[in-house]
Amino acid sequence: MQTPVTIIGAGLGGLTLARVLYLHGIPATVYEAEPSPMARSQGGLLDIHDYNGQIAIEAAGLMDEFRGLILEGRQQMRILDPDGTVLLDHPDDGTGGRPEVLRGELRQMLLDSLPDGTVRWGRKASGVRAVADGHEVSFADGSSVVARLLVGADGAWSRVRPLLSGVVPEYTGLAFVETYLYDADIRHPAAAKIVGGGGMGAPGPGQRIMAHRERDALHTYAMLSKPEAWFDALDGLDPRTALARIAAEFDGWAPELRELISGGDTAPILRRHYRLPGVHRWERIPGVTLIGDAAHVQGPNGEGANLALLDGSDLAELLAAHPDDVDTALARHEERMFARSEEVAAESAEMAKRITADHGKDTAKVVADGFRRMLAKKREPAERVR
Ligand SMILES: Cc1cc2nc3c(=O)[nH]c(=O)nc-3n(C[C@H](O)[C@H](O)[C@H](O)COP(=O)(O)OP(=O)(O)OC[C@H]3O[C@@H](n4cnc5c(N)ncnc54)[C@H](O)[C@@H]3O)c2cc1C
Repeated sequence: MQTPVTIIGAGLGGLTLARVLYLHGIPATVYEAEPSPMARSQGGLLDIHDYNGQIAIEAAGLMDEFRGLILEGRQQMRILDPDGTVLLDHPDDGTGGRPEVLRGELRQMLLDSLPDGTVRWGRKASGVRAVADGHEVSFADGSSVVARLLVGADGAWSRVRPLLSGVVPEYTGLAFVETYLYDADIRHPAAAKIVGGGGMGAPGPGQRIMAHRERDALHTYAMLSKPEAWFDALDGLDPRTALARIAAEFDGWAPELRELISGGDTAPILRRHYRLPGVHRWERIPGVTLIGDAAHVQGPNGEGANLALLDGSDLAELLAAHPDDVDTALARHEERMFARSEEVAAESAEMAKRITADHGKDTAKVVADGFRRMLAKKREPAERVR
């Protein structure tokens, strides 16, 4: 009889793990802090890569459903100078290998693929401790469970991680401030035109304006490198004042780029970026492990969701391959996860340097060159467990 798996966190990693376990007939329960699938906006577009995220979706048997979620044309990418000059306009010719889907729709696809009752909503893990027959997880509602096999898939601020590692994420010095423009083609035509049909990035020294064309909105991310206290000061401001304060950081930039912020229809959503050390390993402890951001959160690098998906499917396939030896499965999982996440973390460190580098008026040009190199780079697809 396979050991039942207790998963903390119904994000992309935890749900992929549950789905692939289900396909292999291994029982799993997912405990999620949020009260329901709709409790929180799930954020914007994710590009899911053919060399990692899509391999997990294949293992989950959900490729057809995934294809149905792809927003056509969104792999188009533009890079602009702050004055609005287009420096790079990479078309979406359908061969990019990084199709874009909405995070909320991807998560719902995974939820729909699980038997009813797999996810227990409104169960926020508040503490964990080792007990005689496994690990006990306490929840904020006063309940608790004992897990013979516990997986922390609960993101950057994991409550499971302290069982394995005392390391906590540190602020990267970067935050995104997000807003949405609805009916932008009609209400904000110049801003909509400059974004184009997919993604747009306008980098300046230490800051950027980025935007994506989603299903029915333009989604803007203003990236600023500032101390945390600067962002704290935005709390409590009314939304228009907060958006105006952020737009003021881009004084002198093309008006249609600034419009992406100042014209926002929604209150700004602040996302500070935190990271764990690029090498974050721990001693093997029987019956518990981590996946996704809980194990290896990094700053913005376009890989976090892809790695979380792959960690989930890989761990499930290893557990299925070692039905009588859970700890061998966990040891192999960690070895494989450490190797791939360390490689990405090293790339992220390089990317962070590029993001914050000040090349003066050539900053956008340097970023456009880096983007061309990234597109040209051949990546080996992740190898599945057989
Ligand atoms: C603005 C932004 C843009 C991004 N863009 C991209 C991108 O384009 N491509 C990409 O690959 N990655 C991207 N990422 C990174 C990506 O979102 C994460 O790496 C990914 O979501 C990690 O998945 P996860 O399942 O490990 O954790 P999460 O998605 O964080 O899921 C964790 C789950 O655990 C739950 N939880 C948390 N604490 C508890 C608790 N105590 N008890 C129970 N449940 C709990 C949470 O509610 C959540 O549902 C982006 C991140 C941000 C912030």
